[in-house]
Amino acid sequence: MSETNIVNIAIIGAGPAGYTAGIYASRANLEPLLFEGLQPGGQLTTTTEVENYPGFDEGIMGPNLMEVMKKQAARFGTKIISAPVDSVDLSTRPFKLVSQGEEYLAKSVIIATGATARYLGLESETEFMGRGVSACATCDGPFYNGRKVLVVGGGDSAMEEAIHLTKFADKVYIIHRRDELRASKVMQKRAMDNPKIEIIWNSAPIEVLGDQMGVTGARLKDTVTGEEQEIEVEGFFLGIGHTPNTEMFKGQIDLFENGFVKTAADSTKTTVDGVFACGDVQDQKYQQAITAAGTGCMSALEAEEFLLENE
Ligand code: NAP
Repeated sequence: MSETNIVNIAIIGAGPAGYTAGIYASRANLEPLLFEGLQPGGQLTTTTEVENYPGFDEGIMGPNLMEVMKKQAARFGTKIISAPVDSVDLSTRPFKLVSQGEEYLAKSVIIATGATARYLGLESETEFMGRGVSACATCDGPFYNGRKVLVVGGGDSAMEEAIHLTKFADKVYIIHRRDELRASKVMQKRAMDNPKIEIIWNSAPIEVLGDQMGVTGARLKDTVTGEEQEIEVEGFFLGIGHTPNTEMFKGQIDLFENGFVKTAADSTKTTVDGVFACGDVQDQKYQQAITAAGTGCMSALEAEEFLLENE
């Protein structure tokens, strides 16, 4: 790309944060470039119904919500590139981004790369990945019609996955390492009221069991007594939270020890002038579609301000 083709804003990521940044930046005539990455629409494309996004009184399916946001961003001139950014150089001005071998130059960058589902790190978990082990109940639930499955975790994600899986499976175990759930009260109640769900408290999987056909069960360890037991399941689902997608930015901007991007108080400014971060990659607390959209808006406004000041 030639010097004359330096873009004002490069947005990396296509979840609620990235698309909202695109909507605001394009409406300000800044003609942003948005890289969609490998999962256009982000994590909401792997959820079912979103009931808490304002403006949809009957709820809306996650993938539909993202499709609408994408259209809205494109409507005002956000240029969407259907490829991930492979590397960035935030030490030069303009900033440099490389995607599929092509170099892009940008006066400012908005990081909206989101987060990725976490795994336990068991060897047997890797062995049965895609053969019974999954972190996406929405994607893989229909394979478990009439079967028994388990979900690891005690937060909202685990409850949501377990409830969704009851549409297919006969029995869903929730395996939680403590005797108290982290999930919101409403999600806890929904899970506990569901006759197909059974919670196994103070328990952690230590091995995924299976054969050449796939998962057949799991070995669990009681986190209080140390006792071990085996349960029979054909699906092993993870619902233990997410890791921020910040590998590419390590050493270039300040990150917390757990990988989340550090931003200034009440702002999306990172430790590099002209680089902003919004959504789940920066938000350790709320991690909601609406908060991601909110910080996406902040990023676009702050990038606009930065561009004006540095014009
Ligand atoms: P989370 O709230 O961080 O919960 C993660 C759960 O996994 C916790 O119960 C944690 O146990 C457990 N866990 C973590 N590492 C583990 C390990 N190595 N072994 C066993 N268990 C482990 O993550 P989340 O459920 O993904 O939710 C993240 C955010 O998104 C929250 O703010 C949540 O409200 C939101 N969310 C909302 C909805 C909704 O409103 N419908 C749906 C999904 C997510 P401990 O409790 O012992 O730490």
